[in-house]
Amino acid sequence: MGARRVGRIGTRRDGRPAPAPAPSPSVTSYARAVSTDTGPDTTSERMTPGEARPADTLGLEPDEMRRLGYWVVDRVVDHFEGAPAYPALSTGAPDALASALGGPPPEEPGDALSAMCTLVDVALCNMQHGDHPRFFARVPGPSSFGAVLGEWLATGFNSMAASWAGGSGPTAVELVVVDWLRSLLGMPDGTEGVLTSGGSMANTTGLVAARRATGPGIAYLSDQTHASIRRGLLSIGVPPEDIRIVGTDARYRMPVDAVAEEVRRDRRKGRRPAIVVATAGTTNTGAVDPLRELAALCGAEGLWLHVDGAYGAPAALCERGRAALAGMELADSLVLDPHKWLFQPYDVGSLLVRRPGALEAAFRMAPEYLVDVTARHGEVDMRDRTLELSRRARAVKVWLTFRTYGVGRIRAAIERGIELAEHAERVLRADDRWEVVTPAQLGVVTFARTGEGSEECRTAAARVTREGFAAVTSTTLRGTSVLRLCTINPRTTEGDIESTIERLAGPA
Ligand code: PLP
Repeated sequence: MGARRVGRIGTRRDGRPAPAPAPSPSVTSYARAVSTDTGPDTTSERMTPGEARPADTLGLEPDEMRRLGYWVVDRVVDHFEGAPAYPALSTGAPDALASALGGPPPEEPGDALSAMCTLVDVALCNMQHGDHPRFFARVPGPSSFGAVLGEWLATGFNSMAASWAGGSGPTAVELVVVDWLRSLLGMPDGTEGVLTSGGSMANTTGLVAARRATGPGIAYLSDQTHASIRRGLLSIGVPPEDIRIVGTDARYRMPVDAVAEEVRRDRRKGRRPAIVVATAGTTNTGAVDPLRELAALCGAEGLWLHVDGAYGAPAALCERGRAALAGMELADSLVLDPHKWLFQPYDVGSLLVRRPGALEAAFRMAPEYLVDVTARHGEVDMRDRTLELSRRARAVKVWLTFRTYGVGRIRAAIERGIELAEHAERVLRADDRWEVVTPAQLGVVTFARTGEGSEECRTAAARVTREGFAAVTSTTLRGTSVLRLCTINPRTTEGDIESTIERLAGPA
């Protein structure tokens, strides 16, 4: 046999083969090419001339790769198991971090294991642990192990989802994931989509497609719209005077009448209304704009409705969330971040676009050197749906998450996040040291210390976060700082919520 043995797919740590289903030979000959136990294998002979080559071109031997790789698995499992014993957020001193991690680039090889220990002990512990059960700040990232496995596989295989010809498998996975998201969110067949690095990129990608379809014109946002939207609009060349910020109502929702009035005013002035940006779960309070009514307005006025559901949209998987988000499925473009409430490690955002071909119209490119990897028979080249050309296969982890846990368990995990915020609201209402500012909505509740002002709220959040017990954000509503818990981690307990609130009540 000419092929150097590089291991066996589905080998367990104890060396015995794992019971993995054999891939269909009609789909891939890969497993056969790298397998040591599939009998006479002419594929390997054909694919690899008879010379030994290092398994890792930079010199790591297979046994060493396994030893180091298993160490990584153990540390990551420790990380999952270890919370909540470690701080929810820790920040190192710049000088100390630079001296532990920096210095001139090493000329000689070093010990990989000791370098990995430095990474774990110095770099990876000094950050916000968005997956910590008492991480309530901003929008947590409660990543799941099934998703981490998918990320490792995709990275280990250096997977690529730029073109069909160069990555049919990963592209097929992405198309499946996009279609799963589409159907779970209730968007129609024919909706197209793409995965991005996160909500900011998904929003900007959607706005590019919208603008390409509508042409230049005015975009309508609310004072609760995520900052990535305005930044995205400005960065794609929308002039500041073409961005209208509409004031929200008492529940921090974008009022349809006010948008309609702005649209009428712009038309009277001879301006051209183009895009309405609604939010399905605002970052500050979890408020949901009146999506159905905004969709009706956009339909009547011929405007593109972009819905930013970066954090809130996954709630549509459960009944209560679906009711709160009714009308979201009417969006022309819709953003959802799997790295928020779909339990994925960073990074992965997603964009769904109802109008077939709108993404390709905005992003298609055809340079000479890509002619051989340009789809000609109706397949999809994902590079034509986004600004990224070389792009990793982010869908692999999302696919594996759904295959590992199933929609039912994911739905239950999302429901738990909604209930935890309601538990927090009950605890706050039962205690006269607190006043609830906005009720629990899609896993977010905001509150303040009774009779105290902005300064005390900010100080309390900073103190509890600095102590490491929990990470809590303050935010500003109508000019006043309030405390805020975002409770979308299903591993959070009621006790975590109660003890965090108690600590926030403590002396400054
Ligand atoms: N939109 C909303 C509603 C968000 O809550 C966020 C982040 O919290 C974003 C967009 C930006 O997402 P990302 O940080 O993934 O770019």
